[in-house]
Amino acid sequence: MAVKITEECIACGACEAECPNEAIYEAGKDWVIGGETKAAITDEHTYIVPDKCTECVGFHDEPQCIPACPTEAIIVDPDHVETKEQLMAKKDHLDSVGR
Ligand code: SF4
Repeated sequence: MAVKITEECIACGACEAECPNEAIYEAGKDWVIGGETKAAITDEHTYIVPDKCTECVGFHDEPQCIPACPTEAIIVDPDHVETKEQLMAKKDHLDSVGR
């Protein structure tokens, strides 16, 4: 499961620095994977790219962004359910193509 940011976000940017996968972007900012630029997912609040979030699998025991958020705006995303193996494979993919 990836995690996601809800409308509770106040765009403080505290979570962005915590992400080892560089999966968190400012509202309206395009995101990058393997040197390729993709269109911003939302311009309403800071957002997490599901293709880059591993729930911190491969780096930490728990998602690092959730406790970093002062408004509890980050939650696990029920629309992106993945096993630990899938998350690890995503991490390996990011290791090879670049974040
Ligand atoms: Fe990044 Fe970890 Fe938060 Fe996913 S859970 S967005 S990998 S800090």
